[in-house]
Amino acid sequence: MQRKYRSIDIAHLASGLVLSLPLHELQGSTEGPTVGISAVVHGDEGIGAEVIRRLSEDPEIEELRGRLVLLPVANPLAFQGNTRNTPLDMTNMNRIFPGDPDGWLTEQMADVIAREFLRGLDVHIDLHAGGLYPIVDYVYQLNAPELSRAFGRPFLYAPPHPYEGTTTEVSAQRAKAVVVELGGGLTAQEPYAALGLRGLKNALRVAGALPGPVEPPPAQTLLHRIETVRPHEGGLLLPAVDAVGGRVVAGDVLGRVVSPFSFEVLEELRSPFDGVMILTHPTLHRVEPGDYGYMVGELATAEAVK
Ligand SMILES: [Zn+2]
Repeated sequence: MQRKYRSIDIAHLASGLVLSLPLHELQGSTEGPTVGISAVVHGDEGIGAEVIRRLSEDPEIEELRGRLVLLPVANPLAFQGNTRNTPLDMTNMNRIFPGDPDGWLTEQMADVIAREFLRGLDVHIDLHAGGLYPIVDYVYQLNAPELSRAFGRPFLYAPPHPYEGTTTEVSAQRAKAVVVELGGGLTAQEPYAALGLRGLKNALRVAGALPGPVEPPPAQTLLHRIETVRPHEGGLLLPAVDAVGGRVVAGDVLGRVVSPFSFEVLEELRSPFDGVMILTHPTLHRVEPGDYGYMVGELATAEAVK
């Protein structure tokens, strides 16, 4: 197995520093697919870079078949700012693919990622997480159910209307694509980093990029509807529900927004239906109106997958 690391220079910033993208290329000694794994398209989802680092250092990777391309930090400026969007142009990178070589800086970065990474893949896995405070746990089922299932997470999600302009909108034109939403938060990196690595290695076995026996997926639930409950008031968010995967019924209080000035309860965030918690907050924190509050998966429209 051979390794190569290179930086793709994007541009000089006003500071004089060069903005570049990191790309690890691993070439196995036997034939196999070209697999690309990306992370930190959203800058506050750094756990994905750690999962990729662990994969890169895992002894099993020495037995790689085919080619593995790792992009651990797709949006370095957003990672630097610890923000979802790029601070420099306030753009959400995962809504503007395939990018624009003559556009905003985030669009220019996306264009390079589309050309140098996404378009040459047979399999693409994009790692996301819950951001600074929330934790999340589900895997999108897009065009490759067997790969989505391989992560072994309890909940899969087939969105009726996928977001436009995502990394996988480009890669899935040619590749089998999976988006993983796992972990997040400042206080809850484990066990999610370990679960992410285990899922990735199993997906690589299913894809034929690693030898060894595939771990069969557990019984899983395929969700067709996930609702995001966003606060309309800002303040301190006091979680009432903290476990991902926990059951709730319609109207259950998920969390309360309290004024740090008057201590008044400004808003109670409630479950819109009987469901399962997909995104929660393991700790209290400040929240703004419109932030990610909670995500609830609807059980009435879900399917059991065996
Ligand atoms: Zn994300």
